[in-house]
This record gives sequence, C-alpha cells and structure tokens, in this order.
Amino acid sequence: MKTTIRIVTFLLITLLLLLAGCNLQKSNSEGEAPNGPPQTPSMPRFEGAPVALPVQKADANRPLPGVQIPGVAQPQRQGVQSQALPANRVALRILVIGPTAEDPGLQAWKAILDQLGAHYEVLLAASQELTSGVLEDTTGGRFQAILLASNNLAYEVSPGVFASAFTGDEWSRLWDYQRRYAVRSVSLYTFPGPGTPTVRFADPEDYCIRSVRPAGDEEVRTDNPATNPPGDPPPYPAVQMTLTPEGRGLFSYLNPSAVIPIQNAYTYPARLATAQESPGCLVQPLLRDSSNNVLGVFSRSADGRERIALTFASNPYLLHTQLLGYGLVRWATRGLFIGERRHILAVDVDDWGLESDWWDDTLQPGEPLRYRPQPFRISAVDAWSVYQQQRQLNATYPLSNGFMLNLAFNGRGVNTGVAASCNPGVSSGDPLSSLTKCLASRMRWVNHTRDHPSMDNITDPAALRFQIAENTRLANQLGLWYGSKTLKTGELSGLGWYRSPDPAPIVLPTLPSECPPIATPAGPGSDEPRKDFGLVCANSSLLDRARELGIRYIHGNYSVTSHKPPCPICGVALRPDLLMTPVWPTNIAYTVTNPAEATSFYNYIYAPGGQNPYWPRPLSYEEILEQETNLALYHLQTSASSHYFHQANLREYAPGRSLVFDYLNRLMEKYTSFYQIPVLNPSWDEIGEYVAERTNHTELLQAGLTAIWDRSTNQVIFTAPSGRSGVLFFTGAAQGQSTVYGGDTVSKVSLSAGQNLSFSYTPSE
Ligand SMILES: [Zn+2]
Repeated sequence: MKTTIRIVTFLLITLLLLLAGCNLQKSNSEGEAPNGPPQTPSMPRFEGAPVALPVQKADANRPLPGVQIPGVAQPQRQGVQSQALPANRVALRILVIGPTAEDPGLQAWKAILDQLGAHYEVLLAASQELTSGVLEDTTGGRFQAILLASNNLAYEVSPGVFASAFTGDEWSRLWDYQRRYAVRSVSLYTFPGPGTPTVRFADPEDYCIRSVRPAGDEEVRTDNPATNPPGDPPPYPAVQMTLTPEGRGLFSYLNPSAVIPIQNAYTYPARLATAQESPGCLVQPLLRDSSNNVLGVFSRSADGRERIALTFASNPYLLHTQLLGYGLVRWATRGLFIGERRHILAVDVDDWGLESDWWDDTLQPGEPLRYRPQPFRISAVDAWSVYQQQRQLNATYPLSNGFMLNLAFNGRGVNTGVAASCNPGVSSGDPLSSLTKCLASRMRWVNHTRDHPSMDNITDPAALRFQIAENTRLANQLGLWYGSKTLKTGELSGLGWYRSPDPAPIVLPTLPSECPPIATPAGPGSDEPRKDFGLVCANSSLLDRARELGIRYIHGNYSVTSHKPPCPICGVALRPDLLMTPVWPTNIAYTVTNPAEATSFYNYIYAPGGQNPYWPRPLSYEEILEQETNLALYHLQTSASSHYFHQANLREYAPGRSLVFDYLNRLMEKYTSFYQIPVLNPSWDEIGEYVAERTNHTELLQAGLTAIWDRSTNQVIFTAPSGRSGVLFFTGAAQGQSTVYGGDTVSKVSLSAGQNLSFSYTPSE
C-alpha cells in the first residue's frame, strides 16, 4: 500500500556571527597615558576590528513533496501494557535515525548528543538497512532509546520526489524492538495524522494527534530571514509555545512559564485524537501554542510503546531545539545516560590596567579607520562601579548568584607600589592600582601576560618566561585571586594565526618547517589580516615554556578554524598536559566605552557601506544587545567557554551602567525567561579542568566503552576498553564524584583500562 505524505523540510536560518577577535590593528602612534602610573608609560595599539564569519548558510525552503512509504505495517492493536520493564539487557546507547546526513532533524539530534557527550550511533536510513543485527546482539538490546529525525524519515530521492527511508518491514522491526525492550522513542517534526494509508498526509503510525488546519494547508510558516534586524517584525511571526503541566514535569529545568518562540521552523498545530480516532492510545499534551493547539505530545501506543512527538521542525541552531533537547533525551533514556549537561556563564574582560585605542564615534561606514588621539584606560571610579554592578546582577537575577567576571590581568598596567584603597577617589600614584588591590580577592583574575606582546614570533625562552612568570609574580604581589594554570596571550597570539609577508598557502602546512614566515611588527605583511596557518604553526617555544611554568590551559579563538575542537565541549591537546580551550569573541569592540561608540563601531562593520555589510540598515544599541545576547545564549547552551570583552567596555558611561553589564543583564534576563536552573561560573582553571575531562570522556567513548543495563538485576555495568583508561561522565546515578545540577545527579568516574564499574539503577518513571 502506498501512502502519500506531505512534508516540509525547513532548514536552518539562523545567524551566527562568529567574530575573529583580537585582530592586531597596526599601531598608529604610541602615546603616553595622561596621568599614567609609573608602570604604564605607554601602550601599543593592539587589537582591532573583528570580522564577521557567518558559519551556517540559510537553506531555501524545499518544495512541498509527496512521500511514499512502501508497505507500512500498522502496529498491532493491543491493550495498554504495564510500564514494568522487561527482564532483559540493553546497552546504555542511543540510536539516532534519520534519512540522510543532511536532514536537519538528524543534525539536531547529533548536536544535542554531542553537547552532552552522549553515547550514540547514527543510522542513515536511506543508505543503511535497519536489520535485527543493528538492534540486537547476543547480550541483548543495543539501544536504550530511539531518536527519530522525523516521523516518516522522508528524504528527496530525486529532485522533487520524496520517499520514506524506511520500508514497512523496517518500521515493523523498529516497533517490535521497542516493544520487547520497552525502549522509548522521540520523533521530531511529526505530521499529526492518523497513520493510515487512506489520507493524503499519512504517516507511518498514529501518535494520537490530528491536524487542526484545513487539508492542504496544515503547516504554519515562521520564516524570519537571518538578516532581518532584531527590532523588525519577522515576515512570518514566531509560534509562541508554552509548557503544559505535563510538559513542565518533563522539561523541569525550564521556567514553567517560559514562552518559547518557534521561529524558522514549519509547525503543524494539532489536537489530541479522540478515543474513537485512536483506539487504545493514551495521549497527553506537553506543548501548546497560544491558541491552545497541541505542538508536542507523550503518547502510549495501543501496543504499549511510549513515544514523544513534536509537530515542528528542528535544527541545531534553533532556540527551541536547544531548550527542549535535554529533556527529550533524559525522558527517552529513562533518566540514565552517558554524558551530562551544565550551563557555564563565563565572561572575560581583558587588558586590566592597560589602555587601548578609543573609538571615534564620528567615523562613518566606508571612511578610513581612525581612532581618537588619546587612548582610553578605565578609572578607579569605573572599576569600583564594576564591582557594584556585578553584585547588582547577582541580586537582580538569582540564577546568576555568585557570577563574577574573569579579569585578564597585565601586570605592566598596575603599579604594585601604591597603597590599597577601596575609595575610588583616593589620591594615589595610580587610583586604579590602589583599587585593584582593594578588589584583589573580590574579583577573579587570569594571566594575560605582563606586557601583552604578540607572541607569534617571540622565541627567546627568557622573554617568554618573563611574560608569563613575571605577570604571576606581580599578581601574587597584589594578592589577586588568580588562576595560575590558565594563559591568555595578547591577541590570542602564538597559535598559528598570524600575519605573514607571504601570501597564504593554498594547502595548510603539515609540518612546522612548512609554516610561512611571521611578519615583524613594522615589516612587510604587518598590515595584512591575520591568517589561519593551523596549530602546526603555533609557537612551539611558547608552548614549551608555558607548560614548564605550570600552564595547563591556553586560550584559543573560536573564530579561527584550526582552533575549533572536534567536539562541542572539548579542547585541543597541544602538548601533554597543555590544552587549548577556545573563547568566543563578541561584537563589542575593544575600543568602545559607551552605547554611542559601540553602535558606531558595529555599524561601521555591519551596516550598508561597512567593512562587512550584513544588515539592510544600521542597528540600534538595543538591537545590537539583542543580537549579541542571542548569540551568547546559544553559546552558553552549547559550549563551556567564555565570551571576552576588554577594559574599555567597563567604563561607567552612566551611573551604574557599563557595556559589559548591559550585555550581562540582557543575557540573564533572557536566560531567566527560559530556564529555572542556575548558570555556573567556575574559574578558568576549573573550566580548563572540566573541558580536559570532557575531552578525555569523549576519547574514552570513541575507544569503545561498553555500558549495559541489566533489567533482571537492575545493575548497570560500565567496562572501560582494554587499552584505555579515562574519565566518564554520566547522568542519573551517584557514583565517584557526583553533583546535582538542575535536579539531576551527574557523576564523574575514573576508569582504568578494562575496569568494570557496577551499580544499581531503578528508574523513577
Ligand atoms: Zn588583550
């Protein structure tokens, strides 16, 4: 029996402006700081305009195709079964099924699971058959949960012709497996139809929901082009989604009154099927739109399988995908899964004590770049206000309780000889230095080198040691709360991303001897933009000296391709015990001190006529904040790193206001509207350790960890591969070092090669 299904695949339209940060802008002049302290006689003009790198292209809407599923077998109609688990064994492993690698739903699942560090396999159903050998081996079931990219696995066989990637036999095999092992499934992008071959938009099975819109017009569009300014209404408004009481339980980490926008994803408003329409089906709504239509359901099929279906499209970059993904995985796995999730909010402010170029906000897009004649350095008044604004943020948004900035410290900029004072009006050789001593243990600091030189071509061991170790000595002398294991070099230099007098090679070097020469400060090529020559061209002398001096984590740049780790919460090992952890730039330039300057800079880059024109008109400050905090919220949910700002952004431009805290307040307002679990704010040494362990965890999984849940004894057994030891994170049971985050127990255990770890687990639901 052939069935026609209509499916709309709407792909990503999400703007991700990733910025190359800390570009060295060639010095125009070297200037004395007015009233500068003895140790800050002058400051090189470093760090310039970032460059926009949209990483994800918008995909055109696909046509509305018909889909054919040959020979779909309907699930057996039986009475609702007990939820008792069968006394058999399943591996703690998830199966993701999508038609092709390009399917946005499949990509959504992969992104969610990679962020968690989950244990999963992907079946590309258009090219791989679902055999019984895929699902079972001699020890039992190979999967604890099934995640479907869509309810029908439709894909484009040839232009304009769509088909389901599963045959009826494969659907039957999957359902039979789920029935026998009591394995749950979640289907993204589900058409609300009866699962019969008699209607035009049928689907393989009935999730007990029906479309509420007229046949042929079932979907709601929510298109909003990525270049539509944040303040302008979208051409198709978002569907506003809320949680039902059942949904609040399932997504217990979300704000119960969250209003979640579905934007850039086709949506099928639905209603629950009646008992006559879906005999034997138990269904509960999880998500509704503002008209009380159903957008997501739990349903138990007549043959006892437990399923969740969402009636809207997903992809890795959509907010609703990020908000819901964790809860879906947690439910599908019955609360026990390899991997874990935590939201880390980290914000670095670089160049404490130094002065920087100061943006001239009369500059218009298209004009040659120029700065004000005088540099900018924050005052003691600014610094004291920053401390107060930080406390105010904690008080205003309790989910940020304990949050503090990471101040990247350059010892050259601070006079250790002055007396400490918490009075910003103090008369001192350098009031900012006096106040720095006051804030020493009330703020948190990280090593940004003593003088902030470019470290691309400093190879002299003594010079390198001086930059790293002398900065630490000065920090200790000031009594700073200072991470001694983390290094952020000036301009994030020394990591194979540099200016060269040679044109960029077409093929990236594979050996250090092939690396192009490095431009000297005023020599040929010093005006060129920095290029990514790969980590093979990193300054090996810098890395060796850093490691000798106890540095374990060195900051890279997420905007540099070669700095991107292979998984979302991973670093890149540069030496044994030296891990590169990239950080996120922002579009609040290092040169700007107030909203007018921030807006002028932003539009100089992105407005029509700008360096990288992107928007159809200049943006306002509020729109810039909206856009930047949208990006930050995405990064907060999907990585474990910081965004970085610069000291000029800390100016108290109005009473109690600064660019950094405007951004943080807007971000926490947004976060709090969606979540009710706190953000975590570990120090950089702690972030580095965490990222190192998650990197290790990923490698352990790839090396072949086995994990079995024996439901006859309720025992879980992890077995490390024979050739590898490592750290394993998992959620749902307390073992080793365990913590509770968002109500979920997260454990971290160390396994030696071949070691077994066994514990008891009984699911609560
Ligand atoms: Zn810096």
